[in-house]
Amino acid sequence: MQDELRDHLITEEPYYQSTADEVELYEAAYSVRMPMMLKGPTGCGKTRFVEHMAWKLRKPLITVSCNEDMTASDLVGRYLLDANGTRWQDGPLTQAARHGAICYLDEIVEARQDTTVVIHPLTDNRRMLPLEKKGEMVEAHPDFQVVISYNPGYQSLMKDLKESTKQRFGALDFNYPDHATETRIVVHEGGVNEDMASKLVSVAERARNLKGHGLDEGISTRMLVYAASLIAKGVAPLAACRMALVRPITDDPDMRDALDSAVTTFF
Ligand code: ADP
Repeated sequence: MQDELRDHLITEEPYYQSTADEVELYEAAYSVRMPMMLKGPTGCGKTRFVEHMAWKLRKPLITVSCNEDMTASDLVGRYLLDANGTRWQDGPLTQAARHGAICYLDEIVEARQDTTVVIHPLTDNRRMLPLEKKGEMVEAHPDFQVVISYNPGYQSLMKDLKESTKQRFGALDFNYPDHATETRIVVHEGGVNEDMASKLVSVAERARNLKGHGLDEGISTRMLVYAASLIAKGVAPLAACRMALVRPITDDPDMRDALDSAVTTFF
């Protein structure tokens, strides 16, 4: 592997609790360099999964958090001015393609569509990236792969992927894990005992049932890990749940009270 990417190698195993056969399926997808789309609500383990897979496959990982201000140049690269004149600097996508990393574009729908189309020539059998400003055609390294994540819950007419983008990817569905698996994750990541973790998961399950009935998103695994970390630091469970689980997901007083009372049935 090229020196440029040494900093992007993950040397310690990121803890990842698999929920089905996603690890094997991803390995198969990587073996044919199929671009992958990870679909699912925020905080359910997509990023951790990619980190784990990059570690397992021993490939460097370059992650880009997408946002609406992002331009194609932010991905591809640009000329910079320095003391000696202008100098080209590869963007993260070009760096990954040139040297052979997995490029993870997190929350891709946040980026404008005219930005996301730059991945098109890299995600079909051309595996090329034209750097128009530089007049260079980069041929993707054999190890290069594109992975994108997206939350179908946020989908709207304005924020959806182009059909022509979607069809370039294989997709894996992610969701909150079952009770026992999520409890194990909260024990490991949050540092609480199993009984406490199981109660926190039960609170989340109640809230997830309210999704679509006044709640846009349920309580995520990430939020449970936050609540557990507070409890492990000595914060009273009731206060930790209110702060880390309930207040962030609703501004509506009735919904807040309903969730608070769900919390008190467990704590
Ligand atoms: P996403 O990328 O889907 O928004 P993350 O991968 O960042 O979510 O997950 C948020 C946190 O939840 C992680 O940092 C980790 O602590 C925990 N987590 C969620 N799912 C898992 C899992 N399957 N295995 C291990 N940790 C998980």
